Amino acid sequence: MTPPPDKTTPPIRAVRIEPKCPLCTKPGTAQYRPFCSKRCADIDLGRWLKESYRVPTDEAPEDAESSPNGASGQDR
Ligand SMILES: [Zn+2]
Repeated sequence: MTPPPDKTTPPIRAVRIEPKCPLCTKPGTAQYRPFCSKRCADIDLGRWLKESYRVPTDEAPEDAESSPNGASGQDR
């Protein structure tokens, strides 16, 4: 009598995908992931903001938000 073959399939291991920095494709860090450093994170954020600013808005702009930063000073 032969023992039945072990049909237990090994559980599929979740492949750990290391987040890569979309800017320099370096492995990201936990702190700034998916970016590798604050610099890359800032760059990407800057790009993103620019893009959002460039988005043309055909709709009537809401004049509700007419108060930028309340605290003045701290300008770069
Ligand atoms: Zn990077």
